[in-house]
Amino acid sequence: MTDPGTGTPLTRRAARAAAERAHSSGPVQGEAAPTRRSTRPPRTPVDDVADPLTDAVAEVRHAAGRRARRARGAFTLIAAGVLLIGGTAAVSAAAYGTSTAAAPGASAAASVSPSASPTVTPPPVDPATVMTTRNPCTDAAFTAALAAHDTEAAVTAAGGGPAFREEVVTGEAPCVHLDDPSFTWVVVNKQRPYSPKDYRPSPVVAPAGVQVINGGSLRSDAAAALSDMVAAAKQAGAGAIALDSGYRSYRTQVTSYGVQVTSRGSSGADLVSARPGFSEHQSGLAGDLVACTRSCGTLDMLAGTPQNQFILAHAWEYGWIVRYEAGHTPVTGYASEPWHLRFIGVQLAKAYHDGGFHTLEEFFGLPAAPSY
Ligand SMILES: [Zn+2]
Repeated sequence: MTDPGTGTPLTRRAARAAAERAHSSGPVQGEAAPTRRSTRPPRTPVDDVADPLTDAVAEVRHAAGRRARRARGAFTLIAAGVLLIGGTAAVSAAAYGTSTAAAPGASAAASVSPSASPTVTPPPVDPATVMTTRNPCTDAAFTAALAAHDTEAAVTAAGGGPAFREEVVTGEAPCVHLDDPSFTWVVVNKQRPYSPKDYRPSPVVAPAGVQVINGGSLRSDAAAALSDMVAAAKQAGAGAIALDSGYRSYRTQVTSYGVQVTSRGSSGADLVSARPGFSEHQSGLAGDLVACTRSCGTLDMLAGTPQNQFILAHAWEYGWIVRYEAGHTPVTGYASEPWHLRFIGVQLAKAYHDGGFHTLEEFFGLPAAPSY
């Protein structure tokens, strides 16, 4: 975008600077706007009468002056964007031309020459980029939500799911730790164990109104969300969904992983079961679901059922994602598990769904974790 107003302030300032030099023995100041404005000399003839500059100066001034004034507000926004992208120096250059001690006269002549290229053309500013490159860690509402371990409030304070994701991915939110299991944004995989490895959430509860097969419990926020989803599935005519298993302690995972190693060997076990300290189930935020008619099926029997169709279409509305999708084993390290759902919170699940993501690793810009 070419701002016709850019040249005019340059010319006027250069002219003032020239006048300043002529009337003063001090050096020409070349700093930021407030300083320049505060030291602006009284109006001089340079501003009003036939000035010593070329006709091109007047032509540029008259052609661009009114538009420059009208565009000043918009240009301020552009300069702000440049500040975010290119730093203070870029803004200074864009707004005021070279602010060095270089001869103002020569600078003015160059900037007003009809054949000269514009001094600085601010790059196009994507409003979305401006919106998402702020650091939420300096925001009081965001830090308060972090202190309260309130994922939804934090995401809201960050500007919503897509903005939060962008801030995390671009490194603009250094106070967000994706390995903190007290937040629903935690990412646990074969490269990201719990610390300590025997971490246990508190409290875990049985989801109200949900049949539990193998003693399943979930963290309270995940449990409430599962209750809502299961009720909605039933209401929609998709049938009954039961929780086969939810929270598993480190100790339980030692046993279940050991069983898998015995039957499949280590590499086979690693494809279907997490090592102790690396399981999403240990967070209390993951549940294995089954479909029930007269009786409840096994995990392997969920795929293709109306219940599974409902999960695929609507789980995100309740904060859940299918964590290990078919075709993404190189990223997740696990074979397809349509029954394994992971609670990440409503706003993040919506951003995940709307963004077309298939793994949490990609959602948060993390490395693939195919193996330990
Ligand atoms: Zn599972």
